[in-house]
Amino acid sequence: MAKSLLLVDDSATMRKIILRTLRMAGLDIDSFEEAGDGNEALEKLKDKPVDIILCDINMPGMGGLEMVKEVRKMDSCADTKIVMISTESAEELIEGVLADGANGYVTKPFTPESIQENLSPFMN
Ligand SMILES: [Mg+2]
Repeated sequence: MAKSLLLVDDSATMRKIILRTLRMAGLDIDSFEEAGDGNEALEKLKDKPVDIILCDINMPGMGGLEMVKEVRKMDSCADTKIVMISTESAEELIEGVLADGANGYVTKPFTPESIQENLSPFMN
């Protein structure tokens, strides 16, 4: 079944690249929303919960680590999968955000294959 996806990254260029990569990966996504930081993302989620959030970590305003905690307080997003996408690769940081409720982690630079591999478990 087609999924809805919210892409959260402070770089508009990076959002474009990620969207293009998602299309190249051939994932069945029928609704794309974008946000530039955690605050904007939470506003969008209040109106419209999504199936999957792809979330950067380093953003001005609310960053990805704080955003994960906030999304996990929202009953309407209880089934939402959160996959982080970041240049940060420290094991402690990755383990921490997974413990806080993220469901997956893609490191930048990414490929269509690495995106596909990390999102496909949540496409059923
Ligand atoms: Mg960033």
